[in-house]
Amino acid sequence: MSTTADTPVAAHTAFEPVIGLEVHVQLLTASKIFCSCSTRFGAPPNTNVCPVCLGMPGALPVLNRKAVEFATLAAMALNCRINETSIFARKNYFYPDLPKGYQISQYDKPLAEHGYIEVAGGKSGDKNKKKIGITRLHLEEDAGKSLHEGFPDSDDKTAIDLNRTGVPLIEIVSEPDIATPDEAYEYLTRLREIILYTGVSDCNMEEGSLRCDANVSVRPRGQKAFGTKAEIKNVNSFRFIREALVYEIARQVEVIESGGKIVQETRLYNSHEGKTYSMRSKEQAHDYRYFPEPDLLPLVVDEKWKAEIAKTLPELPEARRARLTKDYGITEYDAQVLTVSKSLADQFEAAAKVAKNPKRVANLVQSELMGRLKAKGIEIESSPISMKGVAASADLVEGGAISGKMLKDLYDLSFERGKDFPEVYDEEGCPQQSSDTSELEKIIDEILAVNPKQLEQYRAGKKTMIGFFVGQVMKASKGQANPQLVNEMLVKKLDQV
Ligand SMILES: [Zn+2]
Repeated sequence: MSTTADTPVAAHTAFEPVIGLEVHVQLLTASKIFCSCSTRFGAPPNTNVCPVCLGMPGALPVLNRKAVEFATLAAMALNCRINETSIFARKNYFYPDLPKGYQISQYDKPLAEHGYIEVAGGKSGDKNKKKIGITRLHLEEDAGKSLHEGFPDSDDKTAIDLNRTGVPLIEIVSEPDIATPDEAYEYLTRLREIILYTGVSDCNMEEGSLRCDANVSVRPRGQKAFGTKAEIKNVNSFRFIREALVYEIARQVEVIESGGKIVQETRLYNSHEGKTYSMRSKEQAHDYRYFPEPDLLPLVVDEKWKAEIAKTLPELPEARRARLTKDYGITEYDAQVLTVSKSLADQFEAAAKVAKNPKRVANLVQSELMGRLKAKGIEIESSPISMKGVAASADLVEGGAISGKMLKDLYDLSFERGKDFPEVYDEEGCPQQSSDTSELEKIIDEILAVNPKQLEQYRAGKKTMIGFFVGQVMKASKGQANPQLVNEMLVKKLDQV
């Protein structure tokens, strides 16, 4: 089957997909959730370990306060209700990288429940937001990592790195409210953005700080009961999640339409082939024999603690976008681009506050900065031109000191030299666009003299020829002339009979 992410799912008109997502996010604490071992990524294998995270008999876990605060903050940002008392539970299963034989997680009494994320409506440009419910957000510890390659004996042996065991995670489980692969993509994008704003995780998918599993089933359109679901595990990018869902939905529809039955199972996505493969039959919750963790007290987040944590909740992306459009008169699209990260939004606001015209700052980011960054494959955070630099350049244009053409050239130089705008402007001797009327008058006379045909057309009533003349004068002045002044002088000249 050659389905891709672009295949419209609506093509399967007789069936509708039902999607729910489980996202694991690693919290940015310095130490692990139940011991004082470091959580640093990339340390030599098995160096960040102790009796607690190695699961030695008799070692006792002690809960990391910071992990609770981070998880609570994330839950608040996701509109969840925080449960005053939550319970840690043992999830029993055997895995080589899980030395205790169980994972400490939360089960029937999680830290937080009943949240939601707003995503854009189905059609692009649709202003109606759709709420995707969040069933629960709970705390748990991560397992270790099996290393199947990279060692001389990797052909017949698997190595285990236990540095990651006991690293704090939050698991965020959505309601099965997601109707399309695109909506799943949008949900994940918004979720990541919100978590990044709270600062509780770096959400780095390559390092595994954000992992996503998708539950997907299909049912005849209009039917209330869910179909049998498959779980797609460990997909390592949002784009691949979308592709995997598109493929899996088409596969399930095909199985049902040809008279087959969907089996509940865990499937893996092969991004090279664009297909999902059956990995194992899916275990049910009761297979894990959950029971309350006897070595940990119930976790109590009381009103006082909750209020303290709430104080650290920053303005979230959606609210910030609304405020930026209102405060600085920028478009929603501009606000979208300028709030992709909190640091960028902070920089923009700092620049916009001191700029003569904030809207021009936003426009320059869109029209001059983003294109150059994209062409060079540079993230906006590493742009040679800072937001301060953009604001400085916007002020020069605003005040009439430089023309748009000059600004473009100076931006090019900034990118060539890898230096910020004010520095390059200085290096170039602070050029000013020409407002010298006698010089301009000479150029205008020359242009009119060598273009008699166009002049005749203008005087015969074709007033749009003014654009042609302005262009010619600007070209002759090598972009140094002030276009507004050129325009005024030309009109005067041309209308002289
Ligand atoms: Zn440890």
